[in-house]
Amino acid sequence: MRKPTRRTETGRGERVLPGVWRLRLPLPWPGVPHGNAWALARDDGLVLVDCGLHAPGSLRDLERALEPTGYALEQVRLLVCTHAHTDHCGQAAAVQERAGCELWMHPRREQLTASLDDREAVLARRIEVARQSGVPEYPLQEWADSRRGQDTGMSGPLDVARELLPGVTIASDLGGWDVYETPGHAPSHVVLHQPERRLLISGDHVLGRVSLYFDHGWTPDPVAEFLASLDRVEPLDVRLTLSGHGRPFTDLRGHVEGNRALVRERLGAVVEALGECGEATAFDLLPAVYGERLEPATASWLMTKMLCYLEHLERAGRVRRVPGEPIRWSAA
Ligand SMILES: [Zn+2]
Ligand SMILES: [Zn+2]
Repeated sequence: MRKPTRRTETGRGERVLPGVWRLRLPLPWPGVPHGNAWALARDDGLVLVDCGLHAPGSLRDLERALEPTGYALEQVRLLVCTHAHTDHCGQAAAVQERAGCELWMHPRREQLTASLDDREAVLARRIEVARQSGVPEYPLQEWADSRRGQDTGMSGPLDVARELLPGVTIASDLGGWDVYETPGHAPSHVVLHQPERRLLISGDHVLGRVSLYFDHGWTPDPVAEFLASLDRVEPLDVRLTLSGHGRPFTDLRGHVEGNRALVRERLGAVVEALGECGEATAFDLLPAVYGERLEPATASWLMTKMLCYLEHLERAGRVRRVPGEPIRWSAA
């Protein structure tokens, strides 16, 4: 239920290292005021990693953020997206149209492409899942109506020239960036590691301020995938992490551990809440796990995570479904 808020920021760019710029792009989402794209110098142009949400004025924000690089949007030689969320790939079509560059992304992006192909069908499925999870009819319809009225955040369909998979290297003046698959936050998520400079472009897999999100309904167990992806990045030699939101940070391993701890805490809170109340729907569990005051703007986001936690715990044999509708859960 992320309703658009008024835009108060504009795009801003800053050099992080020679040949690496952070492009800070505003987002119209409560609690997520901006996202980062990263510009990497290459030959006489740029590699752009992520490109921001598409909205009125958003391409101008990207152009403004590119100013400190000394390159224009037309000089982007390659666009790479860390994952198929609109705040990371929304402007891909517009960037490609201006720059004539290729787009490289991981193939597991159906969570986004399905809703571009048939938005109403994907919405209907989400409404049904929410209904079965105990979300009352009134907020559900209100949420559905607000979704219908929202822009897609995309400037056009994704036209991917190359699948971003392990073994692919992204060349830049700093050296090559290796691709690591890190599903969990999104099935299509990858991170890019530059081993000589010890840099990691982490997308939304590991953020400076620990914050969890998992796409629900596209893979069997996003929470387990996310934990495995943390294990995958932990051994990488990294001195600076360039994440999809917020400032660059050091201490990747501390952040990896922080993410693990928060997952453990949330899973523990779900089991504990079920232990206290006996049986509950996913919707009933939200206040117990996330606090009494549920903000309508973030409730659907929390529901998505709750379903991922419950299904992860079910696989681990720690909770079980009670037969009937809506689906109720109990501790195993
Ligand atoms: Zn994301
Ligand atoms: Zn993001």
